[in-house]
Amino acid sequence: MIEIKKGKEPKELIQYRKQNNATYDNMHGARVSEQQNEDVYHIVLNSLVREQGGLCAYCMCRIPERKGTPSCTIEHIVPQSECKNNPEKAIDYRNMLAVCSGNRNATSDADKTCDARRKNQKLNLNPLDKSTLKGIKYKSDGRIFSDDAVTDKELDDVLNLNCISRQLPDCRKKALEEMLLVIKKKYPSGSIKEYCLRLLDHYRNDDPKKPYVGILIYWLERHCK
Ligand SMILES: [Zn+2]
Repeated sequence: MIEIKKGKEPKELIQYRKQNNATYDNMHGARVSEQQNEDVYHIVLNSLVREQGGLCAYCMCRIPERKGTPSCTIEHIVPQSECKNNPEKAIDYRNMLAVCSGNRNATSDADKTCDARRKNQKLNLNPLDKSTLKGIKYKSDGRIFSDDAVTDKELDDVLNLNCISRQLPDCRKKALEEMLLVIKKKYPSGSIKEYCLRLLDHYRNDDPKKPYVGILIYWLERHCK
């Protein structure tokens, strides 16, 4: 998980919020002008996916596309169950993230990740708030963890980001190994600090982003000091 920098919210969502029946559920099929090809829900979803560099906000897998439409859902940082007394929060762009399906249709909760696993549980981790992500670390086997017990529980249990059936640790490990191979090839000996700094800048600003880039940034930050 890395920080997501929020861009401007789509103008269609601003217009939509002015309508009388503007609820989150009604975003499906809602149009604010005749020229609008997609409904408000998909305009917002596409905008979220773009500003996340095409990755799930939690597990950082590439969000797949089906017929040009991203196959993912809108996640609410403050869950919808808590938005009942404050329905505006459910259509607040700053409360929304794009997340992968997280094995939503799996029979066992052990196989679900991201919002499919979280449901309405409390979550202190927030990709829009850098300070909540500070304690995130990675092991060389690709597992994500934190020395802080609350953060660790949220990563490992609430979001299930070490899910075996989704091979998340393996995917991270593979991404790291690929990067290390490139570094080794380019600089078989001597200082790699300069190169790591350039790579770090590249991965922070890359668009679309490389899947599982969180572990790469973590490794580079520790090796270019
Ligand atoms: Zn995910």
